[in-house]
Amino acid sequence: MRVLVLGAGIIGVSTAWYLRKEGHEVTVVDRQADAALETSFANGAQISVSFCEPWASADAPLKVLKWLARDDSPLLFRPKFDPQQWRWGLSFLMQCSDSAFERNVRQLVALGRYSHESLKSLVAETGIEYQRLERGILHFFSTQRDLELGAAGAELMRRYGVDRQVLSREEVLNVEPSLAVFGPQIAGGTYTASDESGDARVFTQALVRRCQALGVKFLFDHDIEALLAAGGRVESARVIDRRSGQASVLKADAFVGALGSYTAPLLRPLGVALNIYPAKGYSATLRLKHPERASTVSLLDDSRKIAISRLGNHIRIAGTAELAGFDTRLDTPTARVRCEALVRRYEELFPGVADTSQPNYWTGLRPSTPTNIPYIGRTRLPNLWVNAGHGTLGWTHGAGSGRALAELISGRRPALDFGFLEGAGCAPVPARSHRVAA
Ligand SMILES: Cc1cc2nc3c(=O)[nH]c(=O)nc-3n(C[C@H](O)[C@H](O)[C@H](O)COP(=O)(O)OP(=O)(O)OC[C@H]3O[C@@H](n4cnc5c(N)ncnc54)[C@H](O)[C@@H]3O)c2cc1C
Repeated sequence: MRVLVLGAGIIGVSTAWYLRKEGHEVTVVDRQADAALETSFANGAQISVSFCEPWASADAPLKVLKWLARDDSPLLFRPKFDPQQWRWGLSFLMQCSDSAFERNVRQLVALGRYSHESLKSLVAETGIEYQRLERGILHFFSTQRDLELGAAGAELMRRYGVDRQVLSREEVLNVEPSLAVFGPQIAGGTYTASDESGDARVFTQALVRRCQALGVKFLFDHDIEALLAAGGRVESARVIDRRSGQASVLKADAFVGALGSYTAPLLRPLGVALNIYPAKGYSATLRLKHPERASTVSLLDDSRKIAISRLGNHIRIAGTAELAGFDTRLDTPTARVRCEALVRRYEELFPGVADTSQPNYWTGLRPSTPTNIPYIGRTRLPNLWVNAGHGTLGWTHGAGSGRALAELISGRRPALDFGFLEGAGCAPVPARSHRVAA
């Protein structure tokens, strides 16, 4: 079958890889000059199978209200006259209960496990190198109260078979000795040894080269303007070559929407109503002056909700979320405050370890759903498939999402308990969390 994959982020490229492995003829289209130049470019680098709790929880509404006025808050909601934003916000509120939280965690863990296994096999097969560190993820807390909440979260995750240990301050420092200077301000932590970190952009771009070697075609520098449907099926994608300005039409037997946050607006005219909203995040990448004093375990700093990952001789600090539409500017006052807060916090934790004079700032739009569960599966148009809405976990869930969708397109049911998007011809699914408008 000829499959056109729309979008060359971690999700689109992983999908292309597994589709090719299934024997399909695959073309990938993206507006950028290479893969992973948008949200998959400089994220927190964590393969975070075990730390996968969604933002929507019973105590989230109160926290978000408290943070409304703070430019440097971890989650910032900027109300706009945007029906999509309000629809998303209301759905998010409906997920803020203990029962919804548990239901969502169950699916996120299932997809995470499947994805981790898929990633490990893919890496073993291809030998791709991407600054991978298999040192686990350590979540540290600054107050006893937060540590107790973290311990309760660890207890919940253990129910799903996630081995998250609760650590005292001394144990935290044993796992990551480079935290010693900040040590007196740490109350304790939780740790999962099986999680990993690595550079999503480097991985994705290397996977493109492996895909090309297998015959996958990549059409970069092409804007996808619209999908053209007739007789209840998608017939083609209208694209414009950014360099020549020339328009053309690409035909295929099946189409996969893997455009991150931009999947929802592209599919909306076809009556496919995906509840994906962009959540703007930031990262700062710093060169290490003293690599020997920097962390190698990937970290989560609970008080600031930021991730810190080692990437060779650099350190990546990433986090915060702003629900303010499709805005990727780095030169706004809010962006400056948020970026500078990342560097300032790193300096508090690891004084003098990195060169903070030339931070490499970046921003990206997490394709967020109210549940944090992505849409994977078939839409109401039988040859239009979706792999989008991976929110905070697209790198973690990339390989597994790509593999699962390739299996579905090939007529097989992936071996995991997950609420795949239903469409005519799909196998019945066990967990149901999303609906596409009729
Ligand atoms: C600050 C931050 C930290 C994060 N940290 C982590 C982490 O530690 N671990 C983790 O698992 N996840 C993390 N994430 C989430 C992860 O980065 C995303 O979920 C993931 O990158 C989404 O991948 P994607 O392929 O869906 O989207 P993208 O990477 O954005 O890919 C979509 C592609 O579609 C293309 N495109 C869009 N519209 C069009 C169009 N009209 N025409 C042509 N091409 C188009 C874009 O150019 C892009 O290449 C983080 C995100 C942020 C913002």
